[in-house]
Parts: sequence; structure tokens; C-alpha cells
Amino acid sequence: MQIHPDIPELRDALRKLRAGSGLAMPRSVGFVPTMGALHMGHRSLVQAARRHCDIVIASIFVNPTQFAPNEDFSRYPRTLEQDCQMLEAEGVDLVFTPTADAMYPPGASTFVDVEGVSDRLDGASRPGHFRGVATVVAKLFHIAQPDFAFFGQKDAAQVAVLRKMVRDLDFLVEIIVCPTVREPDGLAMSSRNRYLSAEERRQALALSRALQAAQTQAARGEHRAAALQETMRATLQKEPALRVDYVAVVDPDTLLPVDDVRAGALLAVAAYVGSTRLIDNVLLAATTGNTGVPGKKKS
Ligand code: AMP
Repeated sequence: MQIHPDIPELRDALRKLRAGSGLAMPRSVGFVPTMGALHMGHRSLVQAARRHCDIVIASIFVNPTQFAPNEDFSRYPRTLEQDCQMLEAEGVDLVFTPTADAMYPPGASTFVDVEGVSDRLDGASRPGHFRGVATVVAKLFHIAQPDFAFFGQKDAAQVAVLRKMVRDLDFLVEIIVCPTVREPDGLAMSSRNRYLSAEERRQALALSRALQAAQTQAARGEHRAAALQETMRATLQKEPALRVDYVAVVDPDTLLPVDDVRAGALLAVAAYVGSTRLIDNVLLAATTGNTGVPGKKKS
């Protein structure tokens, strides 16, 4: 596995790998962008890329432009050595580990703003966050030129923003979204879970519990978004130490609220556990129309 902090070197290495052994078939490149402090969620993205693509690149970059000044940029966990061991064990070909100066040379002043969707859910709570995300991912796409890029459903709003960016700017990359990987008790894996004390770790379970409660309610036929939202809020509020940031039932593409979930919807929550902000979501599939069973209509 090659590790490159330098942009020209990475491009050069990638060009050689793509050329491969001179076979006529072009070799596909799969890309997994991360901020490091890797866990099983990241690992699942790398495994999907490995299954899907001939060449796998991962990046590890704690992107300063997506953190507000009051956020956790400086204390974000950095575990480069272990991260590289995991990536090597999963058969990654190249790891890109740029410095902030390499990604943002002095005087850099070009940003990507995906208007509208960037101001919803996490974008509403973290102004400017998705501008930083879209800018860094656009740059990473230009540098790595992947055919496929792998992202986690865990960051559902990020997926909506990046899908729109790819459409709006005609990037030649297909975004593949992988399911959220959870701890056995339901907590969504996150690099930020490392911040939690034992007691906070217990409190954090309220997020997945809230989503599960609403999902069960929807499966039993509740289709009013307001009722599902109420269930999620009530479940979160049973944990008084938790501070709710948002509880939302939205369209997964636009992130705009929906009233009725029968056409499919994203249930999403964000809450502070102590000083740690955690997010989680589940996607509800459409229940209108076809049941998948010939001759059987959904009741
Ligand atoms: P991050 O390092 O937090 O920027 O995340 C890098 C990628 O891993 C993003 O596409 C995330 O959505 C994805 N990811 C983070 N946590 C999980 C998880 N629990 N399951 C699946 N993907 C995840």
C-alpha cells in the first residue's frame, strides 16, 4: 500500500496504477474519503470499494474548512498509524494524507456552495459546514478522478449535498451509499464516540432508540410525519441529560420536510451528549403501490 501526502505524487502513482499491466480494459478507481480515526463503518466502505473496483484509494484528511471555530477540529482524534494498518489489511492500494497547506495553499479562495440543501438538517445547525465538505470533496474528486466514491448513510445530509454537487457540476463519478454500521446495542459508529464517557455512551443510545421507535410505528401503519417526529422527540427526552438539536422527517434528496412518509422518507436526529454532537438516521422505504408480491396490493 502506498501512502502519499503530496498531490503530484499521488496523481503520478494513480496514473501508473490505472495504466496497470497495459491490458485493454480501463481499470476502475474507487475512492473512500475519510477524516481518519477509522472504525468498522469506514471499513465497510473500503470493503465495498474493494469488491466493486480494481483500484481503491482512501483519503485521511481532517478538513479544517468544515469545522466552525467553536467546534472540535483541534481535538478531533488523529490515529494515522492504526488507520493505515486497517486500510492495508483491507487491500487499499493508495492512501492520500495531505496537509492542510497542500489542500488549501495560502490565498486559496474558491469554494463550492451547494445552495439550499446545505442549509438544512446539519447545515442549519452548523452554518458553513457543507460548504467546507463540498469544497474538499470537489477537490478530492479532481485529484483522485474516481469512477466510484463511497459514502456512509450515517451522514445522510452529506449524501444529499454531494449527490447534488455531482449532478450540478457534472462530475464523472458515481456516488455509492453504504448502510450505517452500528455497535451491537444499536449506537451508530462514529469517530466522535471516542469522546463519550461510559455514562454518555449509555445516554447516546437514545438516538438509535428514537429512530427505532418511529420506524416500528411507521411499519405498523403510521404515516403522519408529525406523529413519528413526536415519538422520536419523546424518546429522546426520556434521557434528560441529552440536548436535542433536531428531529426531522424529510425527503432524503432535498432534505425538505414531508407530511406523509408513504412515498419514503428520511428520519433523522441530532443531539448533544455532554459536549459531543451525535447524529443518526434511518431511511423509510416507500410503502405505496407495489408490495413486491404479484397480485397482492398493500393494505
Ligand atoms: P468521516 O471520517 O466521519 O468523515 O466519515 C467518512 C465516511 O465514513 C463518510 O462517508 C461517513 O458517512 C462514513 N461513515 C461514518 N460512520 C459510519 C458508519 N457508522 N457506518 C457507515 N459509514 C460511516
